[in-house]
Amino acid sequence: MIKKILLFVVLSCCLQVFAQKKREFKVSIIDPANSLDVETESNLTFAFNMQYPWFASADGYRTKRDVTLEVANSETETIKAKAGEIKVNSDWIKGKSLKKINKELKGALTKNWSFYSTKKHKGYKLIFISKDPNLDPTVRKNLIDTYFEIYPILVKAFNNKSTKDVLFVVDTAYNAVAEASGNRILFSAGYLKAHPTDIDVVTHETMHIVQGYGYSAGPVWLTEGIADYVRYQYGVDNVGSKWSLPAFNQKQSYQNSYRITARFFAWLEQNVKPGLIATLDQQLRAHQYTAQSWSSLTGKSIDQLWEEYSKNPDQVKLKYSNKLVKG
Ligand SMILES: [Zn+2]
Repeated sequence: MIKKILLFVVLSCCLQVFAQKKREFKVSIIDPANSLDVETESNLTFAFNMQYPWFASADGYRTKRDVTLEVANSETETIKAKAGEIKVNSDWIKGKSLKKINKELKGALTKNWSFYSTKKHKGYKLIFISKDPNLDPTVRKNLIDTYFEIYPILVKAFNNKSTKDVLFVVDTAYNAVAEASGNRILFSAGYLKAHPTDIDVVTHETMHIVQGYGYSAGPVWLTEGIADYVRYQYGVDNVGSKWSLPAFNQKQSYQNSYRITARFFAWLEQNVKPGLIATLDQQLRAHQYTAQSWSSLTGKSIDQLWEEYSKNPDQVKLKYSNKLVKG
């Protein structure tokens, strides 16, 4: 009896997930000549449910969720697909296996992107998508290489439970610099074009994946300060991109975030407590960080620490990574 109840619970959970997925992405099959048999129709729907949600999440949050699938013997010899619209050749589809349909649909969807690749190395995977036909192949290669060079190091140093499966998307419709959410990093095509040497954007953004703090674990300035401190410490070529931590001035605050906070962190590591930033990172991930963390770790509040920093900001040796010197 208990087994039966358990089975029911498990089944109803699965069904709920499936039902939610079905609500999330809906396919309406239009088959005016009635050329699909029941099995083919079910194969097409199955392939849609396998491929389209993945395509949509890689393509972007604005991608259409209601999709029409038209069966006709014009326009395509196999399958043509874009956001919201799939066309299938009625002669080709007859008797096609699920495997074949699935493969062809995936191929048709990925054709919407200017570039698509999957690369694996030593247990790490990167799917790279570019929606920019003019993305410089050297920049593309640098982004991919930097992921495989730096991400495993960050995972090892900070959080070895991080995902090893990451997605990069270069988007022409995205106008900021870059952002990470879940395992996906979105890069602005325009930014990369204007700043082709700023390859350590990958270091900053992949650190956000490693951080994985979830919501309201700590203040944003702290999350961003840590990501830029890590870029300073681990970046592959900060010199090449002319990236540096700005000199201190009295108008600054630790809440200024990014590089200003990162310079303060470098000073703290050298003058107050080595390893402090890694400990704060762990606390944030475990949702154990509070404003008191500073005093319990250093004996001083964050405001006292900043006060000390502001009195002696140049007592810090800064050293930046340089690909040319490294050879
Ligand atoms: Zn950031």
